[in-house]
Amino acid sequence: GQCAVACPTQAITQVEDYQKVKEEIQNPEKIVIFNTAPAVRVALGEEFGYEVGSYVEDKMVESLRKLGGDYVFDITFGADMTIMEEANELIDRILNKSENLPQFTSCCPSWVKYVETFYPEFIPNLSTTKSPIGIQGAAIKTYFAKKENIDPSKIVNVTITPCTSKKYEIKRPEMNDSSRFNNIDGLRDNDYIITTKELAKWIKEENIDFDSLNGSQFDNIMGLGSGAGIIFGNTGGVMEAAVRTAYNILTGERPTKELLDFKPVRGLEGVKEAVLQIDEKVIKVAAVQTTKNAEVLMEKLKSKEVNYHFIEVMTCKGGCIGGAGQPKQPKKRVTDEMRLKRIDGLYNKDAGIKIKCSHENPDVIKAYEEFFENPLSHKSHELLHTEFESKYYMLGRGNDKVDKVNGKSQDAI
Ligand code: SF4
Repeated sequence: GQCAVACPTQAITQVEDYQKVKEEIQNPEKIVIFNTAPAVRVALGEEFGYEVGSYVEDKMVESLRKLGGDYVFDITFGADMTIMEEANELIDRILNKSENLPQFTSCCPSWVKYVETFYPEFIPNLSTTKSPIGIQGAAIKTYFAKKENIDPSKIVNVTITPCTSKKYEIKRPEMNDSSRFNNIDGLRDNDYIITTKELAKWIKEENIDFDSLNGSQFDNIMGLGSGAGIIFGNTGGVMEAAVRTAYNILTGERPTKELLDFKPVRGLEGVKEAVLQIDEKVIKVAAVQTTKNAEVLMEKLKSKEVNYHFIEVMTCKGGCIGGAGQPKQPKKRVTDEMRLKRIDGLYNKDAGIKIKCSHENPDVIKAYEEFFENPLSHKSHELLHTEFESKYYMLGRGNDKVDKVNGKSQDAI
């Protein structure tokens, strides 16, 4: 590798993921699909001299086409599917008085690993719904491949994210449902994760003049996200998106104006709380950012000092817009001012979008009609949900805590 002298560790001398994708693009047999997470479009521009928080979706999509993508999809579609499953899961847990409340979001892989390692007794509280990237990957290699009559083993599924932990998430052994569905050994739901910074480096290496790009639109089928899908990229966004759809599930109506502009869960405060009254139901929610705040909350939950129905946790401050794979210009760090500008970029977009809720997204409605049937259907469970296992053994403190978790966790020891 080029930095073998400068970097003392072996890991850094490995070929970067985007270089492997470049090789896949050279292979005429392969169909390379790019997907982009919501937080990328409000940070990528910073690498090309744009004001922090600039919304560069169209230029981002065109640059991915120039790099050789056969299709460019939006992870906001996967985010909307996540909400359809997760909000239904939440209402199911609340209405059926399940013991697994509060329900925790599980789309941040660092948070999931944190629970698996330090609080395995709370594993049943994690939403079993896959993250937007997990869902999109499985849907591309089953629903999309079938619809377009493409051999799924020829698809190379690449996602651009603000997150370095997603590189680990897609390799989790259970993230291979498309392989089971298609009966193809070794087929993974997602093949590569590239960070925002890596994409910027690649664009520069190929001498693409980002500024002069006219812009391009996402491809159909999995390229449309609602405002709810867009705000997934920041702290409180998953919560707000879920509340919009949960309201619809409980009342059959469009969320109130107040819920479409759900201020209590927005912003950079460590723990944000809200109490919702939907029909007869009172739902208590919290949105938490950073592991430090999550630890305090977990201890309070354990001692029953607090209680909620639904908790969102994102380990990065600001949520994914503050992810480790995002640009850190100009002073090699991300400030709160930068975080807030990126967050504004997402909410401004949401404010201008007509389709505000995941359940209103016509592509999502079609995906259920044509393939997944209903949220929480047998097929949805097979492809869009996942499982977790205790990693408490990693702490080397024996397995007493693991006994509290479901029997499956014993296998992890
Ligand atoms: Fe990744 Fe951070 Fe987002 Fe979690 S909050 S998914 S670690 S970018």
